[in-house]
Amino acid sequence: MKFATKAIRVGQDPERTTGSVNVPIYQTANFAFDGIGKHRGYEYTRSGNPTRTALEQCLAALENGKHGMSFASGLAATDAVLSILRPGDRIISGDAIYGGTFRLFESIYRPRQIQIDYVDFNQPNALASAFSRPAKMVWLETPTNPLLELVDIATVADLSHRAGAKLVVDNTFASPYLQRPLELGADIVLHSTTKYIGGHSDVIGGAVVTSDDELHQKIAFHQNAAGGVPAPFDCWLTLRGVKTLPLRMKAHCDNSMRVAEFLAGHKLPTRVIYPGLKTHPQHALAKKQMNGGFGGIVTLDLPGGLAQADAFVRAMQIFIFAESLGGVESLACHPATMSHAGLSPEERKAAGISDGTIRLSVGVEDAEDLIEDLRQAMEKCANV
Ligand SMILES: *Cc1c(COP(=O)(O)O)cnc(C)c1O
Repeated sequence: MKFATKAIRVGQDPERTTGSVNVPIYQTANFAFDGIGKHRGYEYTRSGNPTRTALEQCLAALENGKHGMSFASGLAATDAVLSILRPGDRIISGDAIYGGTFRLFESIYRPRQIQIDYVDFNQPNALASAFSRPAKMVWLETPTNPLLELVDIATVADLSHRAGAKLVVDNTFASPYLQRPLELGADIVLHSTTKYIGGHSDVIGGAVVTSDDELHQKIAFHQNAAGGVPAPFDCWLTLRGVKTLPLRMKAHCDNSMRVAEFLAGHKLPTRVIYPGLKTHPQHALAKKQMNGGFGGIVTLDLPGGLAQADAFVRAMQIFIFAESLGGVESLACHPATMSHAGLSPEERKAAGISDGTIRLSVGVEDAEDLIEDLRQAMEKCANV
């Protein structure tokens, strides 16, 4: 079965007793037993729920993995993955990871004696030195937020396995439509389904997919023991979203390419980053590693700093100035004061984020309207 068919059919056969074409929302906390020790696969919704099972099977199929697990949020999924570590264990992490993941690493796991070393996976020397000491887990995101740097998953998978570590790829930015890390050697794929998988900015959720039975057993144990599970209605909303993932991703990619080309040809931005542009330093890797598109995020730098960035986001009429990404509606975010506000100005500078950096999550509206909105917003802020 191919991708779009899986998105609509895996885990989603018509319900047996009534023929309901859509997976019902099994809004129940518990399930009746038929006798002592005899149940029909479900006992209590923290441990399992049929609406959740449908979503988990579908997500596992989309990532070409054996086991899917869904969670109350992307960070609950991250926490469940980290639960397999023990005091003294070491993580090698990409140095440009989601802020909430960084906070979880630093504020919750480091005080519990988990070591975390951050590395730029694109610096061969740094990579070699990071892998010269034992590690249990390697954590990467590609493309990164907000500067859209790519990491070669197959290369890092190989290094991880030689070091005896499990590779976790947070695949939120690409979605399984564009990138399937398990096929490239990753052991665990993680998603904030809040973003492209749900796709409508109306539900928070997370997912983990793996083909490793032992990892699945440990993470699923934690899921039930710690209880970060999604509600049946949230699973249903996410399932409703995922059915159109291929259609939406194609539109996100097409619109982003047009927006990126427009911005690259405009005189105001000092930098435009999109992996689909030939000027992107890792365009070749993007073509090899991502299938059929380069994602829905475009980042630009305005020369006039905070005041100009503020005038720009205020002038936008179609792009909404808000956190998050991956929904059908176009959004703009200001990393320096939003996603990366926790970094010091020096750390932001070192990371390549200025006060004029704007991250666009390009939605699926008409490209002409998006471009016109950006054009008029840049005109209004050009002299600020
Ligand atoms: C949003 C996000 C997360 C966290 O997911 P939540 O659903 O907000 O908990 C993790 N990783 C990436 C890359 C994200 O964008």
